[in-house]
Amino acid sequence: MTNETRYWPPERTDDGVREAAAALAAGGVVAFPTETVYGLGGDARNEEAVEKIFAAKGRPSDNPLIVHLASAADAEALASAVSPLERKLMERFWPGPLTLVLPVRPGAVSPRVTAGLDTVAVRVPGHELARRLIAASGCPVAAPSANRSGRPSPTRADHVLEDLNGRIDGVLDGGPTGVGLESTVVRVLGGAIHVLRPGGITAEQLRAAAGDEAAVAAEPSPAGGSGAAAAEAEAEAPRSPGVKYTHYAPRGEMALVTGRDPALVRAAVQQAADAERDRGRRVGILACAEHAGAYRADAVLSLGPRAEPELAARALYAALRECDERGIEFILAEGYPEDGIGAALMNRMRKAAGGRETAV
Ligand code: AMP
Ligand code: MG
Repeated sequence: MTNETRYWPPERTDDGVREAAAALAAGGVVAFPTETVYGLGGDARNEEAVEKIFAAKGRPSDNPLIVHLASAADAEALASAVSPLERKLMERFWPGPLTLVLPVRPGAVSPRVTAGLDTVAVRVPGHELARRLIAASGCPVAAPSANRSGRPSPTRADHVLEDLNGRIDGVLDGGPTGVGLESTVVRVLGGAIHVLRPGGITAEQLRAAAGDEAAVAAEPSPAGGSGAAAAEAEAEAPRSPGVKYTHYAPRGEMALVTGRDPALVRAAVQQAADAERDRGRRVGILACAEHAGAYRADAVLSLGPRAEPELAARALYAALRECDERGIEFILAEGYPEDGIGAALMNRMRKAAGGRETAV
């Protein structure tokens, strides 16, 4: 394990890119900004570097890593085949927050990256600093989010240091990330786009890009459904091993309150907050800007106007970390409408809440 973690500030990115790229090429692991969240990168071909990523994060080894590339042309070197629909998605969304799961070219990356699967997940990040770093390193860069496994993903360099200082070789600070949630992970099978994990690219965008030629299918959640039909659907569906893990969770317990009528949601959140405070717990509330001023709790954090879920997506992980920092034991969060980026936002909120949800 590394002892000293180097820090390259935003005003020294030229040096940072050069030195961080050299560290990657030498088998080191460095954190860098992407447009989704900060990633912890290592040379995807180098088994030892990949081991360091798993060790630094404390990540289960059956959870494969996404390989980040500087350009779409590099994907062809890692995949044994790319279909016309996959190529179309690359052209439309790269650079950007879309990850494609492709058949892996044998030997192209360490089997630790793919967790032994015959597929590899790849994307070209939309953040210029990330692409410069990857290009300068000359490596395909395996990079999961740069947090300790189970913690909320980092959207700022100080979040990375909070979790990984002393465990990685360095962090390149590019300021706060843009999207704030992880990429959308898709697999194209039989002409249909399967969304394995919702994210920065919405189902609506995928549908528009694919046109009439492809259906967009959301995967059944591993926890949802029962009986023979559900079991069969699960067996046939392309799987994304990582989605079964508890993710993105704050230290405190969390619960969601959802509903179409914002006034009812607000009343239910305050009532639940009061009940928890009566039990002697320190309570935090994650609310839309319209409601934040009216709540009584130990911490009230606004995620922005209810009609702008992009802002809530950007703010969510930092808010969860802030609740931890302020010693919050119970977090109540208002749900958001699930269209557009709202689908990914609610997916992460539900994971953080471990399924605790009240609909009003
Ligand atoms: P993270 O790096 O934490 O953003 O997680 C990456 C996620 O991508 C994993 O949890 C998997 O769900 C998904 N993934 C990566 N590689 C594959 C693959 N070869 N097949 C299916 N899903 C993958
Ligand atoms: Mg992650």
